[in-house]
Amino acid sequence: MEKVDCIVIGAGVVGLAVARALAQRGLETVLLEREQSIGSGTSSRNSEVIHAGIYYAAGSLKAQLCVRGKHLLYEYCEQRGITHARCGKLIVATEQSHLAVLENLQLAARANGVNELNMISAATAQRAEPQLHCIAALESSSTGILDSHAFMLSLQGDYESAGGVLAFGSPLLGAQCSANGITVQVGGIQPMELSADIVVNCAGLHAQQVASSMTGLASAMVPPLYMAKGNYYCLTGRSPFSKLIYPVPEPGGLGVHLTIDLGGQARFGPDVEWVDRLAYDVDVGRSHGFYEAIRRYWPALPDGALQPGYAGVRPKLSGPGAPATDFVIQGPASHGVPGLVNLFGIESPGLTASLAIAEEVMTRL
Ligand SMILES: Cc1cc2nc3c(=O)[nH]c(=O)nc-3n(C[C@H](O)[C@H](O)[C@H](O)COP(=O)(O)OP(=O)(O)OC[C@H]3O[C@@H](n4cnc5c(N)ncnc54)[C@H](O)[C@@H]3O)c2cc1C
Repeated sequence: MEKVDCIVIGAGVVGLAVARALAQRGLETVLLEREQSIGSGTSSRNSEVIHAGIYYAAGSLKAQLCVRGKHLLYEYCEQRGITHARCGKLIVATEQSHLAVLENLQLAARANGVNELNMISAATAQRAEPQLHCIAALESSSTGILDSHAFMLSLQGDYESAGGVLAFGSPLLGAQCSANGITVQVGGIQPMELSADIVVNCAGLHAQQVASSMTGLASAMVPPLYMAKGNYYCLTGRSPFSKLIYPVPEPGGLGVHLTIDLGGQARFGPDVEWVDRLAYDVDVGRSHGFYEAIRRYWPALPDGALQPGYAGVRPKLSGPGAPATDFVIQGPASHGVPGLVNLFGIESPGLTASLAIAEEVMTRL
């Protein structure tokens, strides 16, 4: 059996960032990915937004790691020439009852150290975005977009340059944790057994399944998984807006918002559809809800302008109607297993926070 210093499970954006951090500290690291490419899970099924850190409870991991991650991510993109844009976003009130929501969001953002937020009048918002309907808006100037695939490729490059090994087609099947280290069984066309002092579970939607396969880890440490699918619809033609446009948040998500990719194409979503099984098809029957939600802030949306796009699934730790939960990063201090870190519920803003999550994992070890 081969022995290495560290094994990371899952080559999504979080696993790549964690593996890079371990390898750059001189630790011999193997990154196991069950698919044949990096980022084929949630990391390639999102809005590619660099979030400011507005929505999350003060002191939560989501708040801290989003704000820290945003700074690290902008710095990284600038240094490495990764295409990104600090395009800004407007969160719009379309009825009187939303004004208090915007005020509370501004207070929450300040508590998280996000001060680049301005309440603006409808006239000011409409001068910037003439097609927009609103009665007021909160403008966030530190929100942006990035080429998330280029970012992941760059993390992979850093990792491999530091000597890290990336094994595709290598699903973790099970593991045994003991005081002497962790042994893992890996499937694929060349099944093998590996042992390591450090194992980090970054398997996203499969993190609970991976953790449940570990003997020596108390089953009470594995939280339940709830899946909230987010469907996107794409707009045919150019985007009528230059900033990202968000309604006030809804339970389970941020509301059907407009994001723009770096090519200037607009997409709307994600909505919230609670599901029991993992599937990425977009139901054409949901378009009615999209037209209705979008026309609240863009009344001129033409009939027939939306086409089903793609979908992503949020790995949630609470179900419909329950309060939102924080990221869960469990190290030895939580579960008592030396060298093991499990990450659960890494939904949005996990892309923005990825570099800060990697720092946090290091401190938990
Ligand atoms: C609809 C939607 C929109 C979002 N929008 C944004 C946004 O705009 N901005 C933002 O910051 N965040 C956003 N997020 C969140 C962000 O996309 C995720 O937090 C992030 O991609 C999670 O990355 P990950 O590496 O944890 O998971 P994943 O990308 O899912 O990676 C997990 C990897 O583990 C692998 N794996 C699973 N099981 C095994 C196994 N047994 N053995 C080996 N490998 C395994 C999988 O194949 C996969 O590659 C969004 C999420 C969703 C769902």
